[in-house]
Amino acid sequence: MASLEDNLKKAETHLARFRDGIVLNQIGGEAVPAASGETFEVISPVDLRPIARAARSGAEDIDRAAKAAKEAFAGWAGMPGKERKKLLHRIADAIAARAEEIALTECVDTGQAWRFMSKAALRAAENFRFFADRAPDARNGLALPAEGQFNYTTRTPIGPVGVITPWNTPFMLSTWKIAPALAAGCTLVHKPAEFSPLTARLLIEIAEEAGLPRGVWNLVNGLGEEAGKALTEHPLIRAIAFVGESATGSAIMAQAAPTLKRVHFELGGKNPVVVFKDADLDRAAEAAVFMIYSLNGERCTSSSRLLVEADIYEDFTRKIAEKARAIRIGHPLDPETVVGPLIHPTHQEKVLSYFDIARQEGATIALGGEAAEGPGGGCYVKPTLFTDARPDMRIAQEEIFGPVLTAIPFRDEGEALAIANGVSYGLTGYLWTRDVARAFRFSEALEAGMIWVNSENVRHLPTPFGGMKASGIGRDGGDYSFDFYMETKNIAFATMDHPITRLGG
Ligand code: NAD
Repeated sequence: MASLEDNLKKAETHLARFRDGIVLNQIGGEAVPAASGETFEVISPVDLRPIARAARSGAEDIDRAAKAAKEAFAGWAGMPGKERKKLLHRIADAIAARAEEIALTECVDTGQAWRFMSKAALRAAENFRFFADRAPDARNGLALPAEGQFNYTTRTPIGPVGVITPWNTPFMLSTWKIAPALAAGCTLVHKPAEFSPLTARLLIEIAEEAGLPRGVWNLVNGLGEEAGKALTEHPLIRAIAFVGESATGSAIMAQAAPTLKRVHFELGGKNPVVVFKDADLDRAAEAAVFMIYSLNGERCTSSSRLLVEADIYEDFTRKIAEKARAIRIGHPLDPETVVGPLIHPTHQEKVLSYFDIARQEGATIALGGEAAEGPGGGCYVKPTLFTDARPDMRIAQEEIFGPVLTAIPFRDEGEALAIANGVSYGLTGYLWTRDVARAFRFSEALEAGMIWVNSENVRHLPTPFGGMKASGIGRDGGDYSFDFYMETKNIAFATMDHPITRLGG
């Protein structure tokens, strides 16, 4: 069983390499600094001390990386699926072998708690295995016979793609995009988030050590408005897979428009957990607490709005407050910690600003509502519960992206649905009821890409992952990922002579 002391010691060893050098780019198989030689500082949210400097790249670096990805494309796309499968499994093995190092690095870089990150590193290996197994069949399409004609569809990789990822659980999330891109036969340029770039460097080293050919995957560090923007504008990049804020998604869509890129967006959420009084209330409460206070609430699928039937609202929110009060805030490397520091002082400020907003709007702060004292003195925030909230309040409409839950009562099913759908987002929904007919009715009408009935978020990798409205465009998972990373082509063969309309002569 790991202890805080063990984890601290091991983390120190793993982080030494970053402290002593800079987080380099990886382009065409070579570790390189930014062409300008510039770097930016990376701090740990635990104590705000610098843990690294990373390459601050710009358009020139992106151009080199895009050219390397283009050069590697024919070879990678032409490699038999079975070979790609073997290689991707080797990457998964190597991730699993270094899972501890990855998780320790990620905890210090992001503030996420060890208990969740140790599992996330293994989930990342699973993402590679899952898509590795699908690689041999990725090109296979449909047979669509018609009278006098045989149609079949094939899929071919779209070309070099750009992958842009956020800071919240960067390692696992990057594999969720990169593994299907590679399985499809695409080459890529990855731009990780500037707040937490360390594990993206580990990931590409792991992949190349496992035998991935040079240039198939390129890493370019930098700021969103510089390296990120250049990637979305580069003419050799055929598509952008982006995970991040909705406003950034809009900006990327505009930046990518002149080069007519395909875009795939996994964006923000303000996800409802809807609790009817006939539900298993103990389980519903456990799940609601888990889905907002795990991963520091910095989770796109977090259940940040709690909609409770009015008759049980007081009791249920009291139960939530009791559970949340007992949540342990602490050092992310402490195996007992549930809530660690938020990613960065600017994000902590944003989350704290909603406590004033809640007061101004007239909601009650039933729990938390302030920064917490934590080891290292970093960006800690107390698990927070707002009650007496109205659906039109900003705390009920905007994504706060912290351990902050807004509870709203509803009188009946119709009102619950109107509140649930009354936001600009539509990523996930969680529904708790024992009434089967209502569960079907409600989930049909709920505007969300993913809905869990009587359950917290339990992922099954073949199922589609993605959101509606401001929460995204496109789906990942199973074959849905290949729809994005591949072009579908229809080929029609005549099996009889069709009458050809004669024009002239
Ligand atoms: P962000 O949008 O600020 O940044 C995400 C990435 O985009 C970073 O790498 C950043 O450098 C880059 N970027 C910023 N501006 C850019 C630009 N103009 N052009 C190109 N790239 C640019 O998001 P964040 O704050 O890092 O992450 C938190 C957000 O991510 C939340 O809204 C959360 O809901 C969302 N998220 C969504 C999912 C999902 O699956 N739907 C998963 C995780 C996180």
